[in-house]
Parts: sequence; C-alpha cells; structure tokens
Amino acid sequence: MKTEFSPAQLADPDIAEANKILRACVHCGFCTATCPTYVLLGDELDSPRGRIYLIKEMLEKGRPPTQEVVKHIDRCLSCLACMTTCPSGVNYMHLVDQARVRIEKEYRRPLTERALRALLAWVLPRPGLFRLSMILARLGRPLAALLPAPGPAAASPTLWRRVAAMLALAPKSLPAPGAAGGSVFPAVGGRRGRVALLQGCAQQVLAPRINQAAISLLTRHGIEVVLVKDEQCCGALTHHLGQDGDALGRARANITAWLAEAGRGGLDAILVTTSGCGTVIKDYGFMLREDRDFASAAAKVSALTRDITEYVSGIELHPTQQNGDIVVAYHSACSLQHGQKITQAPKELLSKNGFVVKDVPESHLCCGSAGTYNILQPDIANRLRDRKVANIAMVGPDMIAAGNIGCMVQIASGTSVPVVHTVELLDWATGGSRPGLN
Ligand code: SF4
Ligand code: SF4
Repeated sequence: MKTEFSPAQLADPDIAEANKILRACVHCGFCTATCPTYVLLGDELDSPRGRIYLIKEMLEKGRPPTQEVVKHIDRCLSCLACMTTCPSGVNYMHLVDQARVRIEKEYRRPLTERALRALLAWVLPRPGLFRLSMILARLGRPLAALLPAPGPAAASPTLWRRVAAMLALAPKSLPAPGAAGGSVFPAVGGRRGRVALLQGCAQQVLAPRINQAAISLLTRHGIEVVLVKDEQCCGALTHHLGQDGDALGRARANITAWLAEAGRGGLDAILVTTSGCGTVIKDYGFMLREDRDFASAAAKVSALTRDITEYVSGIELHPTQQNGDIVVAYHSACSLQHGQKITQAPKELLSKNGFVVKDVPESHLCCGSAGTYNILQPDIANRLRDRKVANIAMVGPDMIAAGNIGCMVQIASGTSVPVVHTVELLDWATGGSRPGLN
C-alpha cells in the first residue's frame, strides 16, 4: 500500500512503524474471509482491509479520529485472525493497538461511555475490587429486569445494553480466593525446574482452580512454582482500551518484579494460563522498545514467557487415569492460535493424556469474548458466542477445553456443557482432581 507520510511524521517511531506495516499490505482482501465482524456484518469498513484504510487516513492526515473511524475500530475484536490469514505478514496487531491509543488520546466519547470505560479500566485489573463488583453485580441482577428492554441486536449498543451485558456475565457464586502473591510451591521429588506463574486478575477471582491445577500438575512433575509478590495485572485490559500509560506502567512493574525473582531464585520461564495475557506479555519487548531503561529487560521477559501448554509440552507427563471415553471439544482461543501461533500443543497434550479431542468447525472465528468486548459490544459478541456454541455442539462433546478465562466465561454463558481449562484436564489425567467438581 502506498503511503504519504512526511519526513517529519516519519521521525516519530510509532508512525515509522505504522508506515512499515501499511506498506506491507497489498490490498488482496484475503483477510476479510476470516474476520468475524466482516463475516457477520458484511461491511468492508468492518473488515481488516477497511480498518487498515481508515487507520492509514487518520495517521497520514494527522487528524483526530472521526466518529466513523472510532465506530469501526471499536467493533474490531483484536482477535488477530487477519494476521493468521494475511499472506504478506501485515502486523495488524501493532497497527490497531496504535489506533486505539490515538483514539483514547484524541477522541472525546460521550460522557456515559467514558465513565463505563474508566470503570472497567479501574476495576478489572484489581482483583479485590473486581471481586466486590462481581458480588454487587450478582445482587443487582434482578434490577436488570427494570432496565429498558433491549432493542434489536445493534452493532452500536446503548449504555443500558452494556450494563445488562455486564450483569449477565456475573457468576452465580464466587469461589474462595487462591494462594497469595509471595507463595512458593516446592517441587515434589527432585527439582527439575523453577517457574513463575502469572496470577492474573479476573481469573484469580472467577476461577482460582485453574492456577491450582497448574501448580498441582507442575509440582507433581518436579517443577517449583512461585507466585511473585508485587506482580500486577499484565496490562492487557487497559492496553486493549487504548490506555497505554496504565498498561506500560503495569508492564514495567511486572518486569521489575519478575527479574528480581529471577535474580533471587532463578526462573526457567514465566508461565501464563490466560492466553490473552500471554500474548501481551510476549509483546512487552515491542511495547517498551523505545524505553531506554526497560527495553532490554522487557525483551528478556518476553523471551522468558510461555503459555502453560507450551511449557508442559517439554515435560514428560505421567498419565495415571484413563479418560479414553471422554470427548473434549478443544476451543482454540484467538490469543493462543492467532496471537501466539500455538495451535497443536494443547490438542496433542490432551490426546497423549487420554482424551478424545475434537476440532470445532470454524475454529478460526472468535467466540466474542475479547477482553471487555462482550461488555462494550454485547450484540456482536452474543452472535459470535451463539455461532461458536452451535459449532461446538456439532462435535457432541462431554467437555469443552480452552486456554483463556475470557473464552471460558463467554462460552459457558451459552451452553450447559462443562467448560474447563486445558491444564485442568492435564492435571486430572496425571493424578490431580477431576475438574468442574470443586
Ligand atoms: S483483529 Fe479480528 S475483528 Fe479485528 S480486523 Fe482482524 S480479524 Fe477482524
Ligand atoms: S490479507 Fe494482508 S495484505 Fe491482504 S488486504 Fe488483508 S492485511 Fe492487506
């Protein structure tokens, strides 16, 4: 794609990066076929190619984003299916991340929307506040009936529609909190390795059982696990809202905490059980590339970061349980398959450890979770969830496995089939407790 940035504009490293990405795009449009919003809405401006044009115009002209640009960028799930499909290697992720930051800085949203986004950015990364908000949301559920009835599914939802979506996502009950930061779980038998396990923010409130399963699996196979004190939310939630000041601050704090832990006791890896977080932490090196004080430390942390299934693939597991009659539909989270290009490892691990693994039709399409997307764009998100659940039903599973809490909550809201994390099944198969019962 031809670009016309001025030399002065290209002196800005972000614009120079955008220029490189834009020039790689050859307009072929292959990406449109796998873009969930284009598949649903059929509007070129809701396709990757359309959004790339909008971003190019906005950056080249140096104009503040228009309402039209914001509408189509907001509808993007950042699922990155377009990056998997693109034959020219266009890094859409870095382009749309930059567009979101610019929108956040230069576009004035209506007051109610600003308030909702500020609330999400404040509450979600703080587990204590998030837990409290889930309790309040549960209590407030009956009030949902008093909210104005939602109109027909809309691609630009009202505030009330979003509030109703938020209330609907609140779980019926909350589990007891898991282990606190600073805890160390020694390896059973001889120690073969030592890792940090990201504690996560929403996940530790909604499903602490996931990291408990990871700790049980790892320690039983000779890996010491540390929950690093002073670790924060990875910043993914605010990063995707375009609030980079907050996201980069959290990245710096985590880099400092993890490298200090590596200096104290050594770390073979920083493990992540929420693939949405893993994709962002693996990108810390890029996000902080211009920060002289953090660039090399950020690159080091990104290189140390592994999805749990990536790491466990390098360990010989010892299955003790025969689960050959259990059919597992494997839901490939976008952040894992498109963001981190991890497609086979989770399925191979499940098969090797005794499960009958089924691929889900249209597995490249997002389930609609996408961080805060199912709150901010509930109608598109619900349509994608229903499509995903219908596709999953076609393989007739006993259980659904996924590697991302956002997908797990989203899919579970549309099906009665138990949804578990891949690591819970692996833990169970190798001597841990049966998932979905505790
Ligand atoms: S990230 Fe997903 S929703 Fe956004 S343009 Fe790419 S394929 Fe479409
Ligand atoms: S597939 Fe890649 S090169 Fe083709 S239009 Fe989409 S982003 Fe551009």
